Amino acid sequence: MSRFLKPSFEKLVPYTPGEQPKDNKYIKLNTNESPFAPSKKAIAAAKKAAKKLQLYSDPECLALREKLAEIYGAKKEQVIVTNGSDEVLNFAFMTFCDENTPAAFADITYGFYKVFAAVNNVPFVEIPLNEDFTINVNDYCGINKTIFIANPNAPTGIALTLEDIEKILISNPNNIVVIDEAYTGLGAQSAVSLVERYDNLLVTMTFSKTRSMAGARLGFGIGNKDIINDLNTVRYSTNPYNVNSMTLAAGIGSLADEQYTKANCKTIMENRLYTTNELKKRGFSVLDSLSNFVFATHPKLDANELYLKLKENSVLVRHFTLERIKDYNRITIGTKSQMQAFFKILDKICQGDLK
Ligand code: PMP
Repeated sequence: MSRFLKPSFEKLVPYTPGEQPKDNKYIKLNTNESPFAPSKKAIAAAKKAAKKLQLYSDPECLALREKLAEIYGAKKEQVIVTNGSDEVLNFAFMTFCDENTPAAFADITYGFYKVFAAVNNVPFVEIPLNEDFTINVNDYCGINKTIFIANPNAPTGIALTLEDIEKILISNPNNIVVIDEAYTGLGAQSAVSLVERYDNLLVTMTFSKTRSMAGARLGFGIGNKDIINDLNTVRYSTNPYNVNSMTLAAGIGSLADEQYTKANCKTIMENRLYTTNELKKRGFSVLDSLSNFVFATHPKLDANELYLKLKENSVLVRHFTLERIKDYNRITIGTKSQMQAFFKILDKICQGDLK
């Protein structure tokens, strides 16, 4: 810590990203990336855009917004494009939360919400999930706070229905409800269809997961145009060129190849079923996931030890030390052959054949 750090940041605990090893020796099932390459159309578009990097990127992100609006049945004025969906989420904390309107989110959810609250000096409440890690919708009704819900939730993978989300929207008419749909497209219902009806709804999505573009850093939000205007005021007050030209082009390329994304989603859902069944056969309890990961616990295996043993044997999964979930590991769904290799190693560990 330097002597120049402002006192309010002395206790700031930053978000801890999952491990990104530099060598290729790992079967990487720890950060919910897609195991598939980006669409060829995305790669070709990014290459072409690289030739014009002497120019600033389009601060309006117009072409991409138009395409997103078309795909999600919205108007371009209802779309904001950001540097990963982390950025639109951070903008939402900056724009819609303060001491009079604290943030509210689940005790077990995406760990970055707490950090966004802290860095923006926003008070927050954590609402405990039920014993079975589901959300109790009534806990979110009429609470007069800016609500953040990851749907499906992370790291549990459990999703709310649209009826539940609607109930929360209706009961908080004077507060923004942010539905973080980072893992949309894998079986959960999207709340984007509610945007026309509820002016307090902001849906956030990303190209990082199903569109295989985590490294490009591309996210977006869809909501009422006034909400989007407010977010844009903050965006233009921090970094109007928040999304680089290669990423914008890659995004447009990816959207021109929806068949590819859909096919990959189908494969991930099939592999998720395979993984869940195989884990259950081995005595694991697995939460019902509508994401590209599963959250699993075993009555006889220590989750942290298992994580470490898997890592020693070149498989990375994610273990969280938080008390309520310390008995679980989160396993990203990879290709079928990655999952088969994972089970081979898991079985060897369980039989004591591996160190
Ligand atoms: N929301 C949730 C629930 C996530 O798990 C993630 C990925 N870590 C994000 C948002 C942010 O993803 P990105 O910034 O890559 O769009």
